[in-house]
Amino acid sequence: MGIGQFAYANNSNRFLAAAELTDQRFALCGVPYDGAVTHRPGARFGPQEIRRASLMLCDGIHPLFGVSPLAHLGDAHDMRLPNASPLPQVRAQIEAQAAALMASHHCVFLGGDHSVTLPLLRAARARYGQLALIHFDAHCDTWQDHFGEPSGHGTWTYEALQEGLASPAHTVQIGLRSSGERAATGYVRDQGGLIFTARELRGIDGAALQPVIGRIRERIGERPCYLTLDIDCLDPAFAPGTGTPEPGGLTSSQVLTLLEELAPLNLIGMDCVEVAPAYDHAELTSLAAATLVWTYLCGQIAKSESGKLDHAA
Ligand code: MN
Ligand code: MN
Repeated sequence: MGIGQFAYANNSNRFLAAAELTDQRFALCGVPYDGAVTHRPGARFGPQEIRRASLMLCDGIHPLFGVSPLAHLGDAHDMRLPNASPLPQVRAQIEAQAAALMASHHCVFLGGDHSVTLPLLRAARARYGQLALIHFDAHCDTWQDHFGEPSGHGTWTYEALQEGLASPAHTVQIGLRSSGERAATGYVRDQGGLIFTARELRGIDGAALQPVIGRIRERIGERPCYLTLDIDCLDPAFAPGTGTPEPGGLTSSQVLTLLEELAPLNLIGMDCVEVAPAYDHAELTSLAAATLVWTYLCGQIAKSESGKLDHAA
């Protein structure tokens, strides 16, 4: 790098200042929609802030995986979406644009509120068959209605299981802790899936997380697996910039450990949602999101480069 070549000075508003998307294996795309939130809006501005924060990662070489996404990643910018149309119409647009990207790329999407994950899963289901699902969140998102409305950012997991997009027995939720009736907060477990609540994970990190990681790996096996990361899985100390923060959450370190150790799974794509920059402080939330997305990408690139991950058991 020469003088003035740092990524932040590039001000590209592309993730890591990566190239425009052409034929790279990995694609990043923003989904700037927040019309289905229950509380504070603003996640439509998440993608641009996550990209901006990612520029601090410079050349992108990961300290564990030893690779950078830069040669493998293209930024497809943000989806063009209707802003004031009914949710099913917005979702149809998201699904169509996601399907076109998934046809040629391993995709990472930046939300947007969590309602965008349902059409992303529809596109992934059409391409890969029924999916395993790893879902980081403070909230179960298995409510069967949204305060009287049929669908929103807190119903998509229920809808995805009802539609058969993901296999209930191969659905894993991590970080749950919000208020809610047991029928909703325990829904995935009742359907045969796994839930690791934030309470169950308190004080457990590093090597002590291995039993949890082992159970997740064993449960998901070789199935094609989609990973969705609601940034509010993190404690508000680490990610205040989100619409529905819930104290008592996961640490950045815990989520990084989980992402690193789950990289060997047959992951087919991810999203990171609910970053709402208007409530952020010191770019904590957007930088956390950028770092988690970068970690996912580097894990997948290291795997495709070497055929395996050295650190994997
Ligand atoms: Mn969520
Ligand atoms: Mn949430």
